[in-house]
This record gives sequence, C-alpha cells and structure tokens, in this order.
Amino acid sequence: MDYVGHVIRPPSEAYSMIIQVTVGCSHNMCTFCGTYKDLDTRFRIKDWDTVKKDIDEASSYRHRFRRAFLADGDVLILPTEDILRIMHYIKQKNPHMENINMYGNAKAILRKSPEDLRAIRDAGLGVLYQGIESGNEEVLRRIKKGAFPKHMKEAAAKVIGAGIKLSQTVLLGIGGTELSAEHARDTGKLLGEMSPDFASALTVMILPNTQLFQEYKSGKFVLPDKFGLLGELRTIIKNMNVTRKCYFTSNHASNYLPIRANLPEEQGAVLRLIEQVISTKDESILKPEHMRAL
Ligand code: SF4
Repeated sequence: MDYVGHVIRPPSEAYSMIIQVTVGCSHNMCTFCGTYKDLDTRFRIKDWDTVKKDIDEASSYRHRFRRAFLADGDVLILPTEDILRIMHYIKQKNPHMENINMYGNAKAILRKSPEDLRAIRDAGLGVLYQGIESGNEEVLRRIKKGAFPKHMKEAAAKVIGAGIKLSQTVLLGIGGTELSAEHARDTGKLLGEMSPDFASALTVMILPNTQLFQEYKSGKFVLPDKFGLLGELRTIIKNMNVTRKCYFTSNHASNYLPIRANLPEEQGAVLRLIEQVISTKDESILKPEHMRAL
C-alpha cells in the first residue's frame, strides 16, 4: 500500500479498509496539531492510478471489509466527481462494502452543494467525521482552526440535511485555563445546536512540533489540571441540549474519565457521575497518566 507519512483515522475505523487519497491536510494551520507539520507531508491529492492500485491491493486481501475509510485530513475537499469515482470503484471491487467514510472540515462541506452531498451519500458515505475542537470564537481564533461557530452550524445542518451521519470531536483543555469556562460552555451549546449523531471529547495533548507547545513552554498557554478538564466535560454535557439523539463518548485514550452516554436520555446520570468524581477528588477511577495517549 502506498501509505505516506502519518495516516490518521478515527478510532471507530480501526477495522476499515484504509485508502489514502490525500497526503496531509489542506489547512494544516491548527496550533495544536502536529500530524502533518513535517515538510515531507505537505498536502497533495494522490493521482488516480496510485489510489486505484491501493484499492486493488486492499480488495485482494482475504479479509472481507464492510467499511472503508478515505484518508487523510479532509478528503471531502476533493472535487465531487473524483470522490465518486473512488467510492464507486471500492464498491465495484468489494460488493459487500457497506460504508465508505471520511473526514470533512466545515470549509469543504460548505463548498459542496446539497446535490453533491446527496450523491456522495448515495455512493456509500455513512459517517462524515469533523473536528470542531471548540464552540468559542476566541478559542477558535487562537488555535487557527479556520472556521467559526457560524460556519460549523451551517455545515452541520447541510450534512444532516443530506441524510449523512455526522460525528464531531471537541478538545478538552484547548482554551487553556484562561478560556476554560467559556470554551466548555460554548462548546456544549454549539454541540447542542448542531446535534450531531455522534460527539466525542478528546483531551488536548501538547506535541513538541506544534505552536501550542511553544505557547506552553513560554507560559502563554496553561493546561487545566485533570479536575479542571473534568469540569469542562461536565459543563459541555450540561450545555448540550440536543434536539436529536446523540451518542456522546469520552473514551478516547487521551481522556482521564471514559464516558459513553445516549443523549438526551442519560444526560442527568452522566452529570451525576462526573460531579461525584469532582467532589470527592477520587483519582482511583481516572486513567493513570502513563496510559494516556493520542
Ligand atoms: S486538526 Fe485537522 S484541520 Fe487542523 S491541521 Fe490538523 S488535520 Fe488539519
């Protein structure tokens, strides 16, 4: 397989056929993200022959894949006809394939027409993954996300309106101690307004090859402690007044407290659990530091 650089995928795509369609991320500006900061993984779209060869190879494995994931950062940015050609070929070579999933940032979503999105859905897109990180404008500006809540809401409505399942991630701690309260409140509110099918909270990890690391070293960025991060989780869930069913998780390896909850039904129970951990400062049920990872 022609895998170049770090090929990233959501945890839920661990058993999927991974086809790398682009190398890197077309934005590549986020201050906390070190995935594609190396010069040899600058953003580029792979040519069709390379992608086709990888599909042929992956389709020849004995394993009968039912899901595929198109990597890297934001495959939805490709012209619709290119995405459709890749998806149709995967299905042609794998008649049992059920879903072909990918990442899509707000900019890429907003560039697609509703017809484009429906055509991609009909070709097999099951879940579109999107990192929104925060619902607070100032935090988004500081981390150079390249999108603001207004764009994210518009993009989410477009995806959901096209009948595509939306999975969004947010980052605990990304506002630092300075904007912790605003970050958590606005992130919860925004998630509630967007009401994605799946939402998950990860905890920011400060990686050496990032701008955030420099800010951390200079003291400009201070990460909340573990109970501060739990407080953010509580505030996010408290403010998530979803209008559709949403499966919320915080079971990523980077988190201290794994949570799985069907919202809105289990909102109260989860809040009580977090409250109990915070009020007793009981670290025994938190993940030990050495077991946390990206
Ligand atoms: S977080 Fe996502 S959008 Fe931002 S630079 Fe990394 S891959 Fe690109």
